[in-house]
Amino acid sequence: MYYTVDRGPDVHEPSIPDEWELVVGLEVHVELSTKTKLFCGCANAFGAEPNTNICPTCLGLPGSLPVMNGAAVESAMRLGRALNCTVSPSVMARKNYTYPDMPKDFQTSQYDKPTNHDGWLAVLPKDSPEGVRINIERAHIEEDTGKSTHVGGDGRISSAQYSLIDYNRAGVPLLEIVSCPDIRTADEAKAYVSELRGIVLALGVSDAKMEEGSMRVDANVSVRPRGSDELRTRCEIKNINSINSVGRAIVHEANRHIDLYETGERPIQETRHWDEEAGRTRPGRSKENEEDYRYFPEPDLTPLEPSKAELDAIDASIPELPGAQRSALAEAAGIAAPEASLIVERGDAGFALAAIEAGASGGRVVVHLNNNLADGTGKLTPESFARLIAMESSGELSSTQTKDVLAEMVATGSSAADIAAAKGFEAMDTGELDGMLDELIANNADEWTRFCGDDEGDAKKMAGFFTGQIMKATRGQADGKVVAQLLNSRKG
Ligand SMILES: [Zn+2]
Repeated sequence: MYYTVDRGPDVHEPSIPDEWELVVGLEVHVELSTKTKLFCGCANAFGAEPNTNICPTCLGLPGSLPVMNGAAVESAMRLGRALNCTVSPSVMARKNYTYPDMPKDFQTSQYDKPTNHDGWLAVLPKDSPEGVRINIERAHIEEDTGKSTHVGGDGRISSAQYSLIDYNRAGVPLLEIVSCPDIRTADEAKAYVSELRGIVLALGVSDAKMEEGSMRVDANVSVRPRGSDELRTRCEIKNINSINSVGRAIVHEANRHIDLYETGERPIQETRHWDEEAGRTRPGRSKENEEDYRYFPEPDLTPLEPSKAELDAIDASIPELPGAQRSALAEAAGIAAPEASLIVERGDAGFALAAIEAGASGGRVVVHLNNNLADGTGKLTPESFARLIAMESSGELSSTQTKDVLAEMVATGSSAADIAAAKGFEAMDTGELDGMLDELIANNADEWTRFCGDDEGDAKKMAGFFTGQIMKATRGQADGKVVAQLLNSRKG
């Protein structure tokens, strides 16, 4: 499996004043990539011609009845268990409100009896390498709505000339994962979304593409004076469509609240939209309370009651998740867990472990995977990779040559020994290097005196000079480590 995770560039995150503390809970919607929708046989596919994947059930026409999609329930339970949730018997419920892109005038969701509840996710924010645990309140099944496109004006409904509605997405299965308000920094929020996305991909329950909306993040943001444990008025930020924007939107919104408190005002509970270009949130609708939705149990669907055998099968189907992969690789390679993150995110942890198992130095495996194999391992096998690293470690190949050979192994799948021979990469005879060095020193007496002098920085510079000359003369075939040894042994 090969996938990438959008962590975004390492931009400087503007922060909030020290005397304030962020309180953030995230609601993440994950579209489950089942073949069909949640309650009907329509295709669950992104990008189809508008209003082609529709039927009386997902249009809510009179007389139509929902039939629960078992594959969606299974995916929902797998994701729930991977998030350490308890899976309980659950009941679908109607959430009543009217919206043009929701033809039934209610959304079939779950209310007081969600499928998954009381879980947690261990995340690795950049600023705390030991990790943070974020509790998960619930992860419930619901259907997606259709999609409105506002035409004319600036693309928002207020200035549009007219709106178009596509019901292809209406009835697509979603899992809404609601975290507790445990998140305290923008980095933690980004790490949470990134970790969650990695788990979703490892399970294969969704393609989790934030840019296509198959994974969507809403952030509930409030602030409080540091040291206090009160929960102040929160605003729900919608429309965040990248992991980087999660951090930016949260910090912006928190600073907006702080500005209000510091001028004697207070925020009102409302939904706000993140405007990526302007780098700010804009007011949406004032937030309804739970009781406004008049939830009641869905009369057309039976409760979901998985048996013990079904739950055991779910547990058995969960592969090793990114957190466990990071720990395993970190231990095998003798590195810190965060250093294994990139390799795990690219799906190369199994490859790295197999190479180490085949005898390769863990440190070199990690260095090559991070620096020279970022575009994939291609035709390279863990065993041939281990043999290449052995040739590098023994000095048979210089580091430049190793990189060269590695690139060709990825492209062709040939062995390191064959490629090195074909390229004429043979270990330089030490005697030959000795002779070359003697001549070089004789011709560059000043540089040699500086190399032997007390100025450490200058000596280092001169070491670089001599090594460079040797590399030039041998067209990169000399082993840098051997040259350094020979230089130092002459120093006396
Ligand atoms: Zn349908």
